[in-house]
Amino acid sequence: MAGPLTGPPEHAGVAGKALDGLLSRLRGEALTPEDPGYARELAGFNRIAQHRPDVVVAALSAEDVSAAVSFAAQERLPVAVQATGHGIAAPPPGGVLVSTRRMNAVAVDPFTRTAYVEAGAQWHQVISAAAPHGLAPLNGSSPLVGVVGYTLGGGLGPLGRQFGFAADHVTRIEVVTADGSIRQVTRDRHPELFWALRGGKGNFGIVTRLWFGLMPVRRLYGGGIHFPGEEAAQVLHTWRRWTATVPEEMTSSVSLLRLPDVADVPRFLRGTFAVHVRIAFTGPAEEGERLVRPLRACGTPSADSVAEMPYAAVADIHQDPTRPLPYHERNIVLKELEVGATEALLEVAGAGSSCGDLMVEVRHLGGALSRPAEVPNAVGVREGAYTLSTLSPPGSPDVVLGPMEPWSTGLRYLNFLAGADTAGPAGECFGPETLNRLARVKAAVDPGNLFRLGHPIAPRP
Ligand SMILES: Cc1cc2nc3c(=O)[nH]c(=O)nc-3n(C[C@H](O)[C@H](O)[C@H](O)COP(=O)(O)OP(=O)(O)OC[C@H]3O[C@@H](n4cnc5c(N)ncnc54)[C@H](O)[C@@H]3O)c2cc1C
Repeated sequence: MAGPLTGPPEHAGVAGKALDGLLSRLRGEALTPEDPGYARELAGFNRIAQHRPDVVVAALSAEDVSAAVSFAAQERLPVAVQATGHGIAAPPPGGVLVSTRRMNAVAVDPFTRTAYVEAGAQWHQVISAAAPHGLAPLNGSSPLVGVVGYTLGGGLGPLGRQFGFAADHVTRIEVVTADGSIRQVTRDRHPELFWALRGGKGNFGIVTRLWFGLMPVRRLYGGGIHFPGEEAAQVLHTWRRWTATVPEEMTSSVSLLRLPDVADVPRFLRGTFAVHVRIAFTGPAEEGERLVRPLRACGTPSADSVAEMPYAAVADIHQDPTRPLPYHERNIVLKELEVGATEALLEVAGAGSSCGDLMVEVRHLGGALSRPAEVPNAVGVREGAYTLSTLSPPGSPDVVLGPMEPWSTGLRYLNFLAGADTAGPAGECFGPETLNRLARVKAAVDPGNLFRLGHPIAPRP
């Protein structure tokens, strides 16, 4: 095949006539493995895996998404969706992939304090559109992550303990379901689907537009404090005791970093083992300074950026990677982090351990993250006290989470699962009641299990 399939007829490829039928309905492109643009369209952030669909539809509108889904249903092919590729779940080859990256409009309404995004929008777009109005979205640590994928999986960010999960503030969803229909979903219209989409992620359809609330946050006392890796024990113990005392306006995490000696890693971290404490406090700077004092004093910081900052600079808190790289992302949710748990973690991931993970991260939950949303949703990890997640290089087995199982709630956080061996079902991310309800919604809207390539939930009437 010579080029992108932008115009009708004569494709003897994958699905022949059916593919021509799809093309006649599209404003965007449909690319098959023979097309030069195919590989470029598939390339995402996490290079550990790549979709290998029979057809990738580069969608420009909800109608394009609907055409792609109807085509897949007719051909009995499964459907996946990709915006940025930060959360790829390594699906088997074949099927139809809807690429949403061209659908990236963002608008902010300062009067209703809401944002509207299309499926391919990234958080940095919302952050910069909201900031001039003194507003902030509930984005996560990296502004390059896609708004929709992040929010449908829960959405745990630096304002989480004060305002909850991003999914808790969604007010309206436009979604293309397995029958190809474009549905407007709110608390009153398709209420069960509204419940399931907010937490159950990509199992129920392809979201084409999303509306959600913004928070009145213009500035933070925030940033990061780096310590040498040898001080991991004193930092981790101090931080865990400290988290039991802080107000909900304080959200924080600690990361054990083993970063490679490459150009986009800050020079002082290259090839070293370091501890990174991340702080986001919405209260006054003087109070933040007082709260953070014991952390600063618990070791000898090699860098300290915690200070008054505009919310628009929120990416500086975590300093997540910005260039594509290959990684497994795994996690468990901890019910507590007492002395024994901290010692066990230091044993497997601290100084002197054989841990080769790029990052071992503990995030403090609680506060609004532990309360149900005003309009309840399917987010499954409200009971946890901390998330413990790892970012590991390709092929590396889990050496950290297994030994920490005694402190696990038994649940995993859906958004922190990515890469080849974590592509399994979403079953471990929800308690039995929530999982049963999700399976019933799935049976109602996708009985043929068309959307089964992400973190699947099987339909069960
Ligand atoms: C560096 C980094 C930092 C991160 N920080 C955080 C964080 O702070 N908090 C947090 O909660 N998560 C975080 N994540 C995880 C992130 O939220 C998930 O990986 C999320 O799925 C990424 O969505 P995406 O669209 O960018 O990725 P993609 O790989 O493009 O999509 C991943 C999945 O999202 C779903 N999805 C995407 N678009 C749609 C759609 N239009 N309709 C239906 N389903 C869709 C699908 O299941 C898809 O398989 C981080 C990940 C990375 C790599």
